[in-house]
This record gives sequence, structure tokens and C-alpha cells, in this order.
Amino acid sequence: MTEPGLRPDGKARSDRAYVTLATNPDYAKGAAALFRSLRRSGTTADLVLLYTDLPAETVEGLCTLGVRTVHADLLPTSSEFNILHGRDRLHGAAPFTKGRKPPFHTPLDNFVKLRLWQLDYRRVVFIDADALVLQNVDRLFDYPEFSAAPNVYETLADFHRLNSGVFTARPSAATFQTMLSRLDQPGAFWRRTDQTFLESYFPNWHGLPVFDNMLQYVWLNLPELWRWQDIRILHYQYEKPWENQTKADALRVLIDLWHAHAGDGPVPDPRDLPPPPALSRGRA
Ligand code: UDP
Ligand code: MN
Repeated sequence: MTEPGLRPDGKARSDRAYVTLATNPDYAKGAAALFRSLRRSGTTADLVLLYTDLPAETVEGLCTLGVRTVHADLLPTSSEFNILHGRDRLHGAAPFTKGRKPPFHTPLDNFVKLRLWQLDYRRVVFIDADALVLQNVDRLFDYPEFSAAPNVYETLADFHRLNSGVFTARPSAATFQTMLSRLDQPGAFWRRTDQTFLESYFPNWHGLPVFDNMLQYVWLNLPELWRWQDIRILHYQYEKPWENQTKADALRVLIDLWHAHAGDGPVPDPRDLPPPPALSRGRA
């Protein structure tokens, strides 16, 4: 594969792949835990990391997990686009009021996700680097492009929007080119970056069950929706389980589960984990 902007290490082994993105060492930590969880799920699909800037030893460490690493350039977007989507500018124009983005989160880097459409796979399931796969989700390869779960973590109104932390795609150079030209129109501003763009590009997106992308704030805000046996992908949106953060006490059970997956030791069966505290107190 010699798509401009991509430098893969080695060849594809399957025609389907789980793909994630890490543009810095913090997200590489997340990606390593995600890949370990995917291995534990028993999948035979390729595991692929798109990355921009990572130390060689980090990339080599992921190779030992059997991951195919693909160096990716930032998208060739205009300087106007890059300024509008710069971290401070974006956070000023469209502040996050529900949770906090970590300091190592660079909004512009999110758009590199779109390069998965340049990959040499027939079917791709993209998963954010801040997620864990708790049960095999290979059935997602049979879902059409473009399938994603709704961005549910607070109210019913959340069902209007998708969350781009888990989605299905069919790579195609033509799709990638069309995306690029739609993305970077004069004055275009995508307030939630790739998520807003994908929602606009695929207005008739197919819905996945929320259990294929369960957002960690459901634990805090919608505890009735939380059933460990149902959750297939757990997504640590906003604060990350590997950083110091203010919600750590409230999210302790989820954070401990992430650390178990990130390490070599045994991983608990999620069905043995406690329910959200709000539920066990009988408040919900
Ligand atoms: N990402 C990255 N570097 C960045 C920002 C994002 O590699 O600076 C990737 C990473 O895979 C991450 C995803 O893009 O999981 C989306 O960002 P994030 O998960 O922080 O957003 P959230 O889920 O909190 O909305
Ligand atoms: Mn995420």
C-alpha cells in the first residue's frame, strides 16, 4: 500500500481490521490497553495503529502485541482550517461544559482518523484509543458503512447525535478524497471535530446499540442504563483513566478495570463488578 500520507509497517494479514489512532504517548498508552482487550476478545481481525508522532520504542512495544503500525501524516488542511480548529480557539468558540478534555488532547489530531479510509482493508471498525473491548464485537464487521452508537450520557436529547469513538467503515480512496474536499471548505468549522464532520458526511448513519460504545459518564448520570453483562465496548470519554483527574473517586471501578486490561495480570469478569453506586444506594 502506498497511499500518500500513510507509511505502513508490513502487509495486511486479514481483509478486516480494528483501527485506532494515537498522535502522542498518552493516547499510545490507551491504544496498548485497547489492543490487549481486543486480543482477549479472541478476534482474528488485524489490529492497526495509525500514529503521527511516537517514540520508536513505543511503536516497537505495540508491534510486540502483534499490532500493524501505520505512520500517518496530519491531513493536508489549510492554515485557516488549522487555526480555527486549534485547541484554544476551538475550546473558546465551542466550550466543553459537561466534562474536561485532558491537556494532551489536540482537536486537530482527531481528523487523522479519516485516513482509515485510505487503508488496504475491505472492512474496518474504528475504536478510540480511550476505550476497552469487554466482549467480542466481530459482528460489527457485518454492519454497513456508516454505523455508530448515539452519544448517550446525559439525556434523551443525546440520541440526536452520534459518538465517533466506535464506528464501521469501508475504506475507499474515492471516499477519502471526497471527505477531504468537504472537510476543508472556506470558513468550515467542525465544533466537535471528526464527530461533527462524520455526522454531516453520513446524515443517514445507522445506529449501533449503546452497549457497543458505552460512555463512562453513563455510570455517573444514567446508572439505570448500566448493566455490566451488556457492555461490549466501554469508552472513557472526557477524563482518561491513566491521568490524574477530579472524577477518579466516582469512576474508581472503571479506572481499576482499565488498569487491569493495560497490564499483564488477570482481568476481572465484568459481571463480577459492582453496579453504579447510585443504583446500589437505590437512588436511581
Ligand atoms: N486522539 C489522538 N490525539 C489527540 C486527540 C485525539 O490520538 O491529541 C485520538 C485518540 O484515538 C482518541 C480519539 O482521537 O481516543 C478521540 O479523542 P478523545 O478520545 O480524547 O475524545 P473524547 O472521546 O473524550 O470525546
Ligand atoms: Mn474517546
